Amino acid sequence: MNEMVGLTNKVVEQTDPKVVGVELHDFAKELYPICRSITGEGIRQTLDLIGGRIPLRKFNVPTGTRVFDWTVPKEWNIRDAYIKDSNGRRVVDFQKSNLHVLNYSTPIRAKMTLRDLKSHLFSIPERPDWIPYRTSYYKEEWGFCLSQKQLLAMNEGEYEVCIDSDLEDGNLTYGECYLPGETTDEVLVSCHACHPSLANDNLSGLTVATFLANLLSKSDRRRYSYRFLFIPGTIGAITWLAQNRETVGRVQHGLVLTCVGDSGGFHYKKSRRGSAEIDRAAAHVLKHQAEPFEMLEFSPYGYDERQYCSPGFNLPVGCMMRSVWGTFPEYHTSADNLDFIRPDQLAGSLRVCAEIVDVLENNQTYRNLNPFCEPQLGRRNLYRTTGGGAIGEEINARLWVLNLSDGEHSLLDIAERSGIPFSLIRGAAEVLQQAGLLAAI
Ligand SMILES: [Zn+2]
Repeated sequence: MNEMVGLTNKVVEQTDPKVVGVELHDFAKELYPICRSITGEGIRQTLDLIGGRIPLRKFNVPTGTRVFDWTVPKEWNIRDAYIKDSNGRRVVDFQKSNLHVLNYSTPIRAKMTLRDLKSHLFSIPERPDWIPYRTSYYKEEWGFCLSQKQLLAMNEGEYEVCIDSDLEDGNLTYGECYLPGETTDEVLVSCHACHPSLANDNLSGLTVATFLANLLSKSDRRRYSYRFLFIPGTIGAITWLAQNRETVGRVQHGLVLTCVGDSGGFHYKKSRRGSAEIDRAAAHVLKHQAEPFEMLEFSPYGYDERQYCSPGFNLPVGCMMRSVWGTFPEYHTSADNLDFIRPDQLAGSLRVCAEIVDVLENNQTYRNLNPFCEPQLGRRNLYRTTGGGAIGEEINARLWVLNLSDGEHSLLDIAERSGIPFSLIRGAAEVLQQAGLLAAI
């Protein structure tokens, strides 16, 4: 390959981040009300909205399908749920927030005293206004989540309890956006789409991934093929890996995207390999941007990188976050809402992802065609015109590329060793190649 490809980030750079941020946030707002779960209509509605923006194929895997050590569960759908007091007033109402129902609750219609009801109620005493998000996927159970204030306002007495849901044989549904490139080597971007009205933990990843896929779909050349997965957490990744076991080796680089909309700095969790190209590309991009960031070592708990990085696969997949799950009080509560994610932060996350893609697309190895002493750059108009003062970073980048292009060092190697941003190193390689001083290997 000769020319530089995949200038995705150019598109991001040329667009007003304020505008992109508002567009990302608006899309999150569209997805927010849907009651998602690991199966059912909610995730399908979500995929339909994503599919309105990028080419998306939906896959259905029937209940009962064995996927490694797991089994695809029953499909869950819900229409309504409430707790009514003796006056017939809804004191807990699913129509006001879908977090009010324990996600995956079995159906129930009953009358019971508060004392009997209490073992089915979940609240957070330390955060009296917030509704917790709780699930019971793998144990058939019913329950309600409510604020501590709501709980304290409930008097002893009889309540009417209704969860109008069904848990029946059906399908697990996931979505895939595949963008073919010049090779079948793939970049995998994966996000979970199974949380109901939760913005940072769920919607931020979905919106940024959708916009990134949209940018890539418009780029005229792609070196890699790209596969964006919108899947239920854990069981979705396990199902996808089980169904794609034979071809999963095509994944050369991967990113799990989640919690990328809050006001925190970036956290990148490395792949199990620890020094995969994706880990190095992420570290390089984060180092050369303005926001605070931290690199985290791999650990076997977290999001779906757990499955991609399980020892049988050991794929080079890292996880990009802003605030780390579980470390912010809003995590898995009603306070992880549309105010908690911000347009500027969503736009900043998209930009970082696009820059990482640019590094992957353009990280090549070159050979200096004039390796005996420095070539005379001035004669080729590639050096400063007047001698004296220090050389600029652009010329410095050219010297680094020439010096390290011995067939052994990639452009990312050169960027890391020189401390010069990859975009400048890539630009230098382009100029030197045009001048006939460098050839791609
Ligand atoms: Zn979560």
